[in-house]
Amino acid sequence: MHDTTGSFGGPTIRKAGDVTTTALATSPLKAADRCDSCGAQAYIRVVIKEGDLLFCGHHGRRHEAKLRPVALEWHDETDRLAPQPTTVTD
Ligand SMILES: [Zn+2]
Repeated sequence: MHDTTGSFGGPTIRKAGDVTTTALATSPLKAADRCDSCGAQAYIRVVIKEGDLLFCGHHGRRHEAKLRPVALEWHDETDRLAPQPTTVTD
């Protein structure tokens, strides 16, 4: 899904329990931002002391366990992704 309007300006949605006291200015991810692992559009930015890492939803989830402890900030825009079709059985 590509948004070419460049109108990413919505409020950052913070997950409950993910409380940080830092006030890092985080710019929204753009369509041009690419996953460092596979080159897909990035929806997750992880800020570590060495710099920023960008991941698609898939790789963000894959690396989350090891990156979370060292992440200074975890910016997740995967809610922009269309919901994956879930297997619904009536
Ligand atoms: Zn990826």
